[in-house]
Amino acid sequence: MKYDFDLFVIGAGSGGVRASRFAAGFGARVAVAESRYLGGTCVNVGCVPKKLMAYAAHSSEDIALSRSFGWDAQVAGFDWATLIGNKDREIERLNGIYGRLLENSGVTLLNGHARITGPHQVAVNGQTYSAQHILLATGGWPVLPDIPGKELMTDSNQVFYLKQQPQRVLVIGGGYIALEFASIFNGLGSEAHVSYRGELFLRGFDQDVREHVRDSMADKGVNLHFNSELQAIEKTGNGDELKVTFKDGSTLDVDCVFCAIGRRPMLDNLGLENVNVQTDRHGLIAVNEHYETSEPGILAIGDLIAGPQLTPVALAEGMAVARRLFKPDEYRPVSYDNIATAVFTLPNIATVGLTEEQARAAGHQVSVFTSKFRPMKLSFSEVQERIFMKLVVDKVSDKVLGCHMVGPDAGELIQGLAVALKAGASKAVFDDTIGIHPTAAEEFVTMRTATR
Ligand code: FAD
Ligand code: NDP
Repeated sequence: MKYDFDLFVIGAGSGGVRASRFAAGFGARVAVAESRYLGGTCVNVGCVPKKLMAYAAHSSEDIALSRSFGWDAQVAGFDWATLIGNKDREIERLNGIYGRLLENSGVTLLNGHARITGPHQVAVNGQTYSAQHILLATGGWPVLPDIPGKELMTDSNQVFYLKQQPQRVLVIGGGYIALEFASIFNGLGSEAHVSYRGELFLRGFDQDVREHVRDSMADKGVNLHFNSELQAIEKTGNGDELKVTFKDGSTLDVDCVFCAIGRRPMLDNLGLENVNVQTDRHGLIAVNEHYETSEPGILAIGDLIAGPQLTPVALAEGMAVARRLFKPDEYRPVSYDNIATAVFTLPNIATVGLTEEQARAAGHQVSVFTSKFRPMKLSFSEVQERIFMKLVVDKVSDKVLGCHMVGPDAGELIQGLAVALKAGASKAVFDDTIGIHPTAAEEFVTMRTATR
């Protein structure tokens, strides 16, 4: 045997665990090194704890709504420590499951930071291993702006471990993480502010969706500050309070400044200088269609490479690498078309396919179908929230190009429509589909008159 391992994976996150397990299952000798936590970002400081916290935030609305159905529901208060404690226990349970999954697949798990020391060589905890293939799956890391007081900010790794619920939070950013956490804090009863540098957050999402989310979040009590840029943060009072100064000279006193302005690839002390792995202009690892880097024998997947930074994408890439290297007859390239995505704000956003703007820019003649309606669940409630749905259709081929929704459980609902879009469904197919009554989802198959 020329090498210690057939595959050495660096990072046991979404992509790394998937690639390791399946490669080992295909008979390869596999090692995976993990420096922090099994399951990576998604399990520990991402999708899973975030969704659990979003459920907690949503509960307050459900309790309030239950009164309209006759329940004498009283809320004595909310206990942050209970939520965080339960969340920590669940994550610990998942860490254990990931460990057992790797062990049972015959993967050698090395707990420690891995560093590439040369072609086909990785060092962990002072020991060097050789491998025919090295897979980089080290994920990303939150970035902070370079302003005075940036050390006072809370990032998305830290937010899951705050000892106390901040009563007043300023969220910086206008993407997935910023808006999800603005909703979480608002739902849990904190005074939540969002500072976004542009005219309207959620750049890249459909314009109608962005406007609907802006209005819905504002209605729910989130304080939205657009064209807003931070200048500095300083401690005031007895040191617990933070004073934020904006570039327009205005100030805001809060208990927590939560920063979510994007993530950078995690390449720290990875030893890339010892090999010829090239990065693109965003600092991401450059790969070809087989996830191969410019250094023979080194591959990269997940948040380290260009493409949607989503767990199911990292999983699919991990699987594709394992199959191509060790079970080539079962290899299928990852299909990046029509990847559905959800933002777990309150209300949820979910989308698949092209936005109206993208469809027009791509040269499609577009018909647009929209619907805004009050959810039946709110029939007895004073709450004026509206669900928003939108279909973007190619006028010439009748093909549905995009489905967008803002409303309860949007992610659950759009997943099914993603299958329809992957199958190339036309608007006529949507129209021929009998709805399920009474649901919100049936609206997607009953929108008949084009809005434009
Ligand atoms: P990661 O899962 O980040 O795994 C990388 C692993 O490598 C980590 O465990 C790290 O400790 C380890 N590592 C790094 N360097 C080394 C080294 N040198 N040696 C050894 N180990 C190393 N996606 C969704 O699809 N849905 C969501 O709802 C969602 N919510 C999110 C919420 C938040 C707050 C964040 C931050 C992300 C969220 N994401 C979500 C994105 C998702 O978490 C990532 O796309 C996904 O985890 C990327 O997987 P990965 O395998 O590339 O890297
Ligand atoms: P995003 O890329 O989604 O959003 C970053 C936000 O920060 C944008 O609004 C951007 O504004 C703003 N921004 C960027 N740089 C600066 C700056 N220097 N100063 C002020 N604002 C700035 O990144 P996130 O950190 O929210 O999330 C990272 C990724 O993780 C997401 O893209 C997503 O792929 C994944 N994720 C997925 C989730 C899900 O599936 N539900 C949940 C959470 C994360 P602008 O638009 O103007 O550039």
